[in-house]
Amino acid sequence: MIDGHIHLENGPLTIEYLEKFIDVAIKKDIKCIQILDHTHRFIEFRPIYENVKNAAKVQEEWFLKKSKDSIEDYLKLIKLAREKEYPIEVKFGLEVCYTSQKEEETRNILNNYKDKFDFIVGAVHSVYGLLYDMEKFSRELLWNVYDTDDIYKEYYNQIIKLMESDMFTQVAHPDTIKLFNIYPTYDLTKTYNKIADLALEKDLYLENNFGCYYRYNHKDPGLSKELKELLLNKGVKIMLASDAHIPEHVGQCFELWTN
Ligand SMILES: [Zn+2]
Ligand SMILES: [Zn+2]
Repeated sequence: MIDGHIHLENGPLTIEYLEKFIDVAIKKDIKCIQILDHTHRFIEFRPIYENVKNAAKVQEEWFLKKSKDSIEDYLKLIKLAREKEYPIEVKFGLEVCYTSQKEEETRNILNNYKDKFDFIVGAVHSVYGLLYDMEKFSRELLWNVYDTDDIYKEYYNQIIKLMESDMFTQVAHPDTIKLFNIYPTYDLTKTYNKIADLALEKDLYLENNFGCYYRYNHKDPGLSKELKELLLNKGVKIMLASDAHIPEHVGQCFELWTN
């Protein structure tokens, strides 16, 4: 079993901290873990967050707290870890906050580093420059201001562009826009089909990410039933993802997965 999405975000970029995640994976009989961090941790990626930063003061404050390390420190950790031998496979990558507005800049920055990574996850975390998943301010900035159908259409428009960009090997939490249980009035089946076909065409993994379930108390243990069935029927590659932000959450909720 693979856990395809594990963050070092809340700790230092050190071997000691990394090995805490490896220890939990070994205990839970997970054979491979994919370590990553958001690009917003790394100052080299600051240019791709201009829209998010400028959209609202609270987002600027949020961003400046997150953007604190150099990617060179992460690369040093990766090099050290690759020199060691672990009883499980440990892969390294990034979770890139994709927006079509910053696609070219993102591509240019990624080109400097992408050969250092085993995988690159693309994620949509904002709509119109507004973060959609923040308990403290997303309702006020986004959900209470914009039409829900428009938010969903723009979210999936961004997911599709992300998949078409050829920058990624994996798509993070493809339907997390539902996390506050706010749903559109239109039917998403056509969108889901498009995403499934694109995943096959581009040979992309789509995540079943448990983060929404155990961190936001959403009812779905990852993908919605409808999207999950459609992806499985079409033979799309699915990556189980704990989205762990602490070592104890490696492999979290994997027992809920059936296919
Ligand atoms: Zn994410
Ligand atoms: Zn994540």
